[in-house]
Amino acid sequence: MWIQGYTRLTLQDYPGKIAAMCFTGGCQLRCPYCHNPDLALAMTKNGNEDTENVALSFLAYIEKRKSLLDGIVVSGGEPLLHNLQGFLGKVKELGLSVKLDTNGLLPDQLKELIGAGLVDYVALDYKSSRENFMEATGLSRFKKQATVNSYYDSWLLTLSYLRGNRVPYELRTTLVKELHPLDILIRMAESICRGASSRELWFLQTFEKTGLLMNDYSKEKISLSAYSNKEMEVIGQKLKKIIPGVMLRR
Ligand code: SF4
Repeated sequence: MWIQGYTRLTLQDYPGKIAAMCFTGGCQLRCPYCHNPDLALAMTKNGNEDTENVALSFLAYIEKRKSLLDGIVVSGGEPLLHNLQGFLGKVKELGLSVKLDTNGLLPDQLKELIGAGLVDYVALDYKSSRENFMEATGLSRFKKQATVNSYYDSWLLTLSYLRGNRVPYELRTTLVKELHPLDILIRMAESICRGASSRELWFLQTFEKTGLLMNDYSKEKISLSAYSNKEMEVIGQKLKKIIPGVMLRR
């Protein structure tokens, strides 16, 4: 288990719960707006002594504070790149709920964890439509179109699995003006509206330019800007006509 770091308390990252949050290293994607480039670019295999120690320290912390906490959030990077079974088993033994943040590219791993009763809530990133997935995830320079298509297919499998499962979940998208113009957002909504139940929430949040971004590490930097609140309202209203569960997250 490769935990790079953790925060002791968050009231915002697990809906309705007081949680501690831990972060794993490594990610298959290179989203230009990523706020955790150090985590995403970290090696994806073989934890080292430091990261094992952070995991132990996190477990010790949540054990000590379990009466104050409702649960934990596992975020990244992409947590499903790691074998989480043992770690989450220990968390569940403490009686805590688990929320998992994922980019959705590893449906089999997610199924395994949910099947084992180790995940109570999933936040699934919805990066973009198939046509725009490569650009929105920063893969143009690294991956072939066929690979990116297979990533998108995997994402669809994750969505389909969650739709047929009882574990609560949400979709979430960080909107960047240059990557998510309205026509692409409408295509995104239309491409998943069939099969969307009324309980399916899709949270939209605007990009914020704070700290180092993945874009800062790229040789081919692109312009990234945020939608205004007013623009977000208009987008929200338009998308709600296609997916009723669209919500703005501020
Ligand atoms: S924002 Fe993109 S690159 Fe960053 S961790 Fe999430 S999926 Fe990976």
